[in-house]
Amino acid sequence: MKRVRGLASFLAVAFILSGCSGSADVVMTDPVETEPSQPEQVRPQDDFYRYVNGDTLADAEFVYGETTAADALDDTEVLEAVDDMITEVAEGSGYAVGTEEYIIQNLFNLYVDYDFQNAGVPEELDQLFHEIDDAQTVEEFLLLDAAISSEYDVPNTLNLAVGLNYQGQYDAILSFNLITDVFHSDLSALGESYDPLDSIRDDGSLYLQAIGHEEDEADEIATALAYDALDLYNATDPALFENSDNENFNLYTADQVDEILTNVDLDAYITAMGIDTEYADEFGVYAPSQLQALNDMLTEENLPALKAWTIGRLMAEYGSFVNFGYESLHQFASVSYKPPEEDACIAIRKNFGVLVDPLYVENFYSERNDEALRDMCEDIREQYRILITQADWLTEGTRDGLLDKLDNMLVVTGMDVQRLDTSLTSDFDYTNYFTLFRSLRTLNRSQINSQLTGPVDRRSIEMRMYEVNACYIPSLNTITITVASAIDPVFDVDGDYYANLGSLGATIGHEMGHAFDSNCILYDSNGVYNPSWIAPEDIEVLEERNEQAVRYFEDNFVIFGIYHVDGEMTLGENYADLGGLESIVGIPETNEQRQIMFEAYARSWCAKIVDEVLIGQIANDVHSPYWIRVNAMLSTLEEFYETYDVQEGDGMYIAPENRISRWY
Ligand SMILES: [Zn+2]
Repeated sequence: MKRVRGLASFLAVAFILSGCSGSADVVMTDPVETEPSQPEQVRPQDDFYRYVNGDTLADAEFVYGETTAADALDDTEVLEAVDDMITEVAEGSGYAVGTEEYIIQNLFNLYVDYDFQNAGVPEELDQLFHEIDDAQTVEEFLLLDAAISSEYDVPNTLNLAVGLNYQGQYDAILSFNLITDVFHSDLSALGESYDPLDSIRDDGSLYLQAIGHEEDEADEIATALAYDALDLYNATDPALFENSDNENFNLYTADQVDEILTNVDLDAYITAMGIDTEYADEFGVYAPSQLQALNDMLTEENLPALKAWTIGRLMAEYGSFVNFGYESLHQFASVSYKPPEEDACIAIRKNFGVLVDPLYVENFYSERNDEALRDMCEDIREQYRILITQADWLTEGTRDGLLDKLDNMLVVTGMDVQRLDTSLTSDFDYTNYFTLFRSLRTLNRSQINSQLTGPVDRRSIEMRMYEVNACYIPSLNTITITVASAIDPVFDVDGDYYANLGSLGATIGHEMGHAFDSNCILYDSNGVYNPSWIAPEDIEVLEERNEQAVRYFEDNFVIFGIYHVDGEMTLGENYADLGGLESIVGIPETNEQRQIMFEAYARSWCAKIVDEVLIGQIANDVHSPYWIRVNAMLSTLEEFYETYDVQEGDGMYIAPENRISRWY
């Protein structure tokens, strides 16, 4: 929905496709406003965003180094509360072995005591790097590579991992994922220059020098790896790097995969990953020609480059334990000047948020809060039911299917967070930060792998509950509303219903709206990706409406007078916003209630942002800038015109023939 930060995947269903992609923080800044603003003069009919947020924006000042100010979504307080909670747990006592509290306490104390700069590389890791380097044959190397991926929770050479079967219902499958990068270099950037190859060679060489290779030899091996990367890029249709996972997904039989992977004993590889070969009769394949190129690389001659790749992947993933210890990696090491207690909290939050989640829920969420949230979700679902039922421009079959999909949609909240099974964690070694870190990573991977054994749990949590965020997962047909976005100040159980509707309600409506956006609508009512479930004549109408929506945003909304919103790129999110608003405006009955709702909506997108971040967002973000998420949406909403009596000539006015709608 709003901002999506890096999703910590620990113990989560890391592979699930979310209906919301990452978004940079965005805010309206007005380029012509070089003199002090006079926000009190702004009329709602002319610029609703500024009418509501003008005072706040005028007073907002950037803290040095920050790119936003007066950000309604500022999560600093939430994170402070989480860190206080972690600190309190660390200072507590009497925890049962293996519980979240026990693990957090140990992680915290071990982290604070761990001397990252002088501890040296953990012996286990150092040995492992040499073991990989000593592999004599491709066969020997691949078995090691497979085992390491599960034991250390890192990607493997085949990029084979448990993921979603987009053609199955709530089904996990072993998939050969698209290889998008080598070390820190993005393969897709090879379309523009060879620079990534230099980086791959440089990084690869440093990783090899770390374990004792002479510079010349390391350079030579890493250069071969860079050429491998180029081969992988050349074998990949560039569009695959841009597409969503579901669009690239192909279901292959074991025989089809065997025809490609002639240089691999696949059953042995999967067994070495710790996975039963009974799950090896079908595979997801995201880029068959890339997989073919990968197979061609698996030769004895190319073995040194393959080993360098695996060693480098592992070193990059465990950087905090190796960068200070190996001289050649010092340039990757960063010294922290924060107190170690503060760093410990950050490390726990970032790496092991799943341990924090249940405690956060227990401390900050209540049954009452959850009930109010779920009631609001049902109010909005009911509005969608009305909108879809009345959408007579859809064929009956499609309309019924969409209503089914709406009914099947599951709301996932903080109450669905599960505690750990302590039988899996009570035997961990709690005496060393590295070994505990490593055990938790292994557990994470085994939990993901265990998804193969049964249907994927629709209530599995993808987001951290202390993120101010929400998402729609099309393959599970679920919306997740995190605790941080369902409590004060976003949602006040004792507050005004219509104010809550304008803030959290718009978000719920937005996420529900994703179920019907241009990509997610292709998933049927059971979460199966199946573009043919929508009748061709409906697809045609939907595409026409898409085209209108693209025009609406591109023609009417510019930043700084010159930067146009990319209507195609933002289409899915714009539609989710619009669907969300169309769903909530049906709930209030009076003008006063509507005003409270609209103002709360505009306030929830308040923030001031530096120009270059805003310009960058126009280029890269699938979400529209905040002020457009307010003004463009309201300018096409009949109820807004009625509520504020917007007339031709007003700033918010758009001629009726140019307005768009999601459902009308
Ligand atoms: Zn979204």
